[in-house]
Amino acid sequence: MTVESLVRPNIKALRPYSSARSEFKGSAEVFIDANENPFETGLNRYPDPLQWNLKKKISTLVRLPKENIFLGNGSDEVIDLLIRIFCEPRVDHIITVPPTYGMYKVSASIADIAVKEVLLTTDYQPRVDAILAATTPQSKILFLCSPNNPTGNDMQPVLVQELLDKFPGIIVVDEAYIDFSSQKSFSQYIDQYPNLVVTQTFSKAWGLAGIRLGMAFASREIIHYFNKVKPPYNVNQLTQKAALEALNDTKTKTDWVFTILRERDKVAADLAAFSFVQKVYPSDANFLMTKVDDPLDLYQYLVTKGIIARDRSTVPLCEGCLRFTVGRPEENKQLLAALKAYKK
Ligand SMILES: *Cc1c(COP(=O)(O)O)cnc(C)c1O
Repeated sequence: MTVESLVRPNIKALRPYSSARSEFKGSAEVFIDANENPFETGLNRYPDPLQWNLKKKISTLVRLPKENIFLGNGSDEVIDLLIRIFCEPRVDHIITVPPTYGMYKVSASIADIAVKEVLLTTDYQPRVDAILAATTPQSKILFLCSPNNPTGNDMQPVLVQELLDKFPGIIVVDEAYIDFSSQKSFSQYIDQYPNLVVTQTFSKAWGLAGIRLGMAFASREIIHYFNKVKPPYNVNQLTQKAALEALNDTKTKTDWVFTILRERDKVAADLAAFSFVQKVYPSDANFLMTKVDDPLDLYQYLVTKGIIARDRSTVPLCEGCLRFTVGRPEENKQLLAALKAYKK
C-alpha cells in the first residue's frame, strides 16, 4: 500500500489555487500583487498561507520537522480535508469505532461517504480482528481517538500499533486530549508509518477553542496533499498571532493541565460517593464519563441549577452515562453542592 494509491484521482490531478502570497518568494517593499488595501491596519495583508513562523514554534514543541506539520481551522477542518483527499463519494467509506467523536461521521456524511462502524469492546478498546475483517480496498480511513471522547480512556498502544501494522489505509489517531494523558503521542511513529496521521488541537489544554486551530502530524507526502486541497488562507492572522503568544508561555498551559488533573481526581472521588452514581469511568482526559441511575432526570435537574453536563445516555455502550468536563475548582464545588441537594 502506498499513500498515493489511496488518494482520489481528481485530487492527484488537481492544479491547486496559486495565491499571490505563495507565488512570490523573496523580499520586497511594494506589494501590489493581491489587491489588498495598502493602508496599515495590522491586518490589511493576507496571512502566510503555510504559517511557517507558527510551524517553527510548534516544531520545537512537538520535536518534529515543520515539514511534517499541517495546520487547520480546528482539527475539524483536518478531518474534513482527509475525507475529501482520500474518499471517493459513494464508492469509498471510512471506519470508525464507536462510541467516539461525532465529527468523523458528520464530515463523511456531508461528503456522501459511508461509515462502517465497528464498536469498541466493553472496556472501550478497538477490536482489531473485527476492524480488519470489516476492511476492504474501499476502507480508506480508520479513525481512532485516544484518549477517547466520550469515554475518556486511552487506547492501548499495542492495539493501535497492531492496526498500524495491518490496516491497508490511512489511520488517524485523534489526540485532542493527549495533554491530559500519561501516554506518549503517536506522532513519534510518523516516520515509520507513511499512512499515519496524528491530530492535536489548541481547543482543549491550550485554552484556545475560540481561535480554531488544529494540527496534523504526518509524512511529507500526506502533508503535501493537505496543502494541495486546503483553502489558501485557512488559518487567519489573528489565530496565528494568538497561538504564537500561547506558545511563548507554555507554563500557563502546564499549570492549567496540572490543576485540571488534580481536580479530575477530586471530582471523580466525589462523584463515586453518591448512591445514584453507578460508575465513574477512569479518565485520561479532562472529563469524566459517569453512569448514573436516571441520566435524563439528573441532566434536567442540573440544568435547573444552571449546570450543563453532556448527556451521552443514548450512545451505544454509554447507556446511562453523563459526561462531566472538569471545571475550575469553584465550578466543581458548585457541581458537588448541586449533586448533594439532588434527592433521588
Ligand atoms: C474537542 C475535540 C476535537 C477538537 O476539534 P477542534 O476543531 O480542533 O476544536 C477534536 N477531536 C476530538 C475527539 C475532540 O473531542
